[in-house]
Amino acid sequence: MNPSLTRSSFNFSTNKKISENNNESLFENCSSHPDEVCNYLCTDNLKIICAECIINGDYRRSNCVKLTKAHDVICNEIKSCSSKLNELTHQVEINKKLVDFDLEDYNTKFNQARNQLSQMFDEIIQ
Ligand SMILES: [Zn+2]
Repeated sequence: MNPSLTRSSFNFSTNKKISENNNESLFENCSSHPDEVCNYLCTDNLKIICAECIINGDYRRSNCVKLTKAHDVICNEIKSCSSKLNELTHQVEINKKLVDFDLEDYNTKFNQARNQLSQMFDEIIQ
C-alpha cells in the first residue's frame, strides 16, 4: 500500500472544515462564506452564522454571541417556547370544550325536532 494514501489524506466531507481545534470541527462551514466556520448565534433570529457574516455580511447590525456562550440564550428560548406551548395547549382544551358543548346542544335540538316531527306525523295519520 502506498503510504501517502492514508485515510487522513482524504477529505470525505464536502461542507465540514477539518480543524485542528476539536471544538470548531463540530461546526459547519458558512454557506455564504465557505472558508468560515459557523460558530456564532444571531440572537435576533436564532440563526447560526460565521464571523464574516457579522463583520461584512447580512448580520452587521444584529445581536450575536459565540455559540460556546449561547447557553443562556438557548435556555431562555426553550422556556419561552415551553410557555407558548402550554398556553396553546390550554387554548386547545378550551376550544375542545366549546365544540363538545355545541355538539351536545346540536344533538339536543336535533332530537327535539325529530320528536316534534314524529308527533306531527302521528297526528296526521290519526
Ligand atoms: Zn457567513
